[in-house]
Amino acid sequence: MKYRVPQLEPFVDEEELQNLRKVIETAWLTEGPFAEEFLTKILELTGARYGVLTNNGTIGLYLALLAVGIHPGDEVIVPDFTFNASGSSVAFTGAKPVFIDINRADLQMNTSQIEKAITGKTRAIMPVHMYGQACDMDPVLEIAARYGLKVVEDAAQGLGIVYKNRHTGSIGDAGVISFFADKTITTGEGAVVLSNDEETYIRLKKLRNQGRLQSSTFIHPTLGLNFRMTDLQCAVGVAQLKKIPRIVERKLKHYDLYKRLLANVKQVHFVEENGLSNLIPFRVNIWVEHQQDLMRYLEDHSIQTRGWFYPLHRQPCFSYLNYSESDFPETNHAFENGVSLPVFYNLKEEQIEYVCETINNFYYGTAGPANPRH
Ligand SMILES: *Cc1c(COP(=O)(O)O)cnc(C)c1O
Repeated sequence: MKYRVPQLEPFVDEEELQNLRKVIETAWLTEGPFAEEFLTKILELTGARYGVLTNNGTIGLYLALLAVGIHPGDEVIVPDFTFNASGSSVAFTGAKPVFIDINRADLQMNTSQIEKAITGKTRAIMPVHMYGQACDMDPVLEIAARYGLKVVEDAAQGLGIVYKNRHTGSIGDAGVISFFADKTITTGEGAVVLSNDEETYIRLKKLRNQGRLQSSTFIHPTLGLNFRMTDLQCAVGVAQLKKIPRIVERKLKHYDLYKRLLANVKQVHFVEENGLSNLIPFRVNIWVEHQQDLMRYLEDHSIQTRGWFYPLHRQPCFSYLNYSESDFPETNHAFENGVSLPVFYNLKEEQIEYVCETINNFYYGTAGPANPRH
């Protein structure tokens, strides 16, 4: 089904095609010159000392956790409100994810809950930079230093997000930025793992490349697997990097238009900007009344909506952790009251006007199923 307003559409054009053509012409499809250029430019952009490219953000988190020394039986503190991969990457190391609640205002991990989640087995904290702004890193770093814990940032959504002069993903012991199709820039699938620590970097390099530092040897000093990207993906990535300023500018413009057009709808509130970083709207996230009815109404009007993340403590795959509902009032509240509206480069002003008009009709028009006015 084709939506009048889809949730998402990556911004790719002739520049990506030209780079892909070069890859095909040289017939070097695996990691090669474009991978090198892509990585170099990401390091320049983020200011991180080291980085490795890998298949996707999920694998990136898994590798980052292994590289900082997470082992079976360890515990890693993760916000309850995030994409499932933040928790599953921890589980795949054999460690136990320990969930904590979020702030209602900005949907970021509630850092005041970290300390009471720490046990004798805790080895790391995984702050997640959610929805285009930063999680407050100073308290995370302070607690981590005091308890001797590692910090692995899930900056999957964090490209371009800068917290106090430090790019997200480059602040902790390791951090991951994803290039999945719905992130700020995309290579289809792909990610980078960043670190400022040389030993962590060496471990990352070995883990992703068959346990060795060079590809031209059949001697494998340690165990690793193949978690590399291809030059086809990196060719797209190099073209995408050039688009960042345009993408950011356009997304912010869209966001402002939404804010203006929905300003008088009193059932709608935008997620607060926490002021800890710049904002690059990942989605346009709003708190709403009658969430389910509104989402159905928008779908009926050919607008593709998304709910917010399903709290990890409620995920069937984490039922073995035996959390109780009452532990997470804020993630439950967010899940039950939030809606994501589309925001992407090629979204047209008329489409945003149509979305806002439809929301307005839902709450105030006679056709609206909720008809709270009556
Ligand atoms: C997208 C995302 C991931 C996973 O990244 P993939 O590249 O899709 O595997 C992890 N965490 C968060 C918060 C994400 O948004």
